[in-house]
Amino acid sequence: MNNHQNHRHSDRQHKDVEVEIGQRFPLTIKRLGINGEGIGYYQRKICFVPFALPGEVVVAEVTEADPRFIRAKIHKLRKPSPHRVEPADDYAQDVGGFELEHLAYPQQLEFKRDLIRQALDKFKPTGYHGYTIHPTLGMDMPYEYRNKAQFQIRMIDGHVAAGLYQSGSHDLVDLESCSVQIPVTMTVMRDMVKLIEELEIPVYDEKTKAGIIKTVVVRVADGTGEVQLTIITNTPKLPHKHQLLEQIEQRLPEVTSVMQNINPGTSPLVWGDETIHLAGNDAITEMIGGLKFRLSARAFLQLNPEQTKVLYEQTAKALKPSRKDTLIDAYAGIGTIGLSFANQVDQVLGMEVIPDAVADAKYNAEQNNIDNAQYEVGTAEKVMPRWLNDGVNFDALVVDPPRSGLDGGLIKEILRAKPEKFVYVSCNPSTLARDLVPLTKVYDVKYMQPVDMMPQTPKCEVVVKLVKSAK
Ligand code: SAH
Repeated sequence: MNNHQNHRHSDRQHKDVEVEIGQRFPLTIKRLGINGEGIGYYQRKICFVPFALPGEVVVAEVTEADPRFIRAKIHKLRKPSPHRVEPADDYAQDVGGFELEHLAYPQQLEFKRDLIRQALDKFKPTGYHGYTIHPTLGMDMPYEYRNKAQFQIRMIDGHVAAGLYQSGSHDLVDLESCSVQIPVTMTVMRDMVKLIEELEIPVYDEKTKAGIIKTVVVRVADGTGEVQLTIITNTPKLPHKHQLLEQIEQRLPEVTSVMQNINPGTSPLVWGDETIHLAGNDAITEMIGGLKFRLSARAFLQLNPEQTKVLYEQTAKALKPSRKDTLIDAYAGIGTIGLSFANQVDQVLGMEVIPDAVADAKYNAEQNNIDNAQYEVGTAEKVMPRWLNDGVNFDALVVDPPRSGLDGGLIKEILRAKPEKFVYVSCNPSTLARDLVPLTKVYDVKYMQPVDMMPQTPKCEVVVKLVKSAK
């Protein structure tokens, strides 16, 4: 998402405001942008200042001078916000994922609500001024929530390091601790760092493109405590594999599944196509709302188990499923949403693009003795028209797309089928607001309920209840 296109002021008359890199000026911060950065205006030209907060007065130092915007860093904080707090992680301003850790939590929650308003202001779906946006539902303790750590593995000064890239670069920051991770994901990660170092397993080097281990992924199923470890490698070969697996078994009893994913070459994607089972079970089991879910390495699961409960409760509340309903669970993942409602509806039909996730969803229906749910592999935009042409009638629809939002083709199909009950679960207010433009030709937005799935970040999840409009 490019926030530089998101500002509210016309920039035509500000093009002649020239600044130079390194130039300093005082600036009052007016609000936060979609990436959590402070926004002020220097001679009416928009200026983005990461880690500055609304109401603060800073001396800004220009780091980028674009004809349309200025980017600057805080040189001096002249007047701090009363809501500024000390970040729990000392690297919070160096790597991505901690953009709001310096802002008190109640204000983070308010910011996420405002993000939705900003997105609606930009796209202006029908009636947007009148939408009810409920206060964001947050966590009591907004730390130690992430069930998955996916860290790059590199050598730094002759030692194995595991962490995230410094913002805007490929320099790794070694993360020895991390306040937002569920603790076991970090202890397993740090033990893996030690093991890789002890066994001298070659670590990938981006310059020479040599070495083997690129990434380590640790995912915990919070409800059962099972941990899956996935080692992503440059080659199928994993030197010292037997010793490594032996050591994992002895030293990391919480690890119940060890997988290897092979991602050769310099692809910008973290995961490759091939996943091999190395030890233990080939998946872990998570519990959500009393149901058991098998979870494969490649399958998506919400990152915050505590708030997933809240998100699904809100989805149920917005949907109000009933016995006679046929429910479509689009973007089903491993089937969590649809299966949670299966006993309240006549049948569930789901589609999902990742084959492993669909296999999990089918297995999950079976292991929970649910016989009224069916899943298909495919994109929602391809499967939906096929179902409609086959005469499938459905009353209720939940869509839970990735950040890119709904495909235009799927929106057309939804407007053709016009289900009575319709809930849009979004993880990106911008694409949500964009999609609401065509959807509000047929539906009214009854309300929007933001749920904070990712404290300390600017990410915002929102449940939208849509009802067919009377017009
Ligand atoms: N509802 C699930 C998953 C939501 S995440 C849950 O709550 O856990 C979005 C899912 O959509 C991912 O599993 C992703 O693999 C899948 N996906 C991405 N693009 C898709 C498309 N065009 N059609 C169907 N599924 C898609």
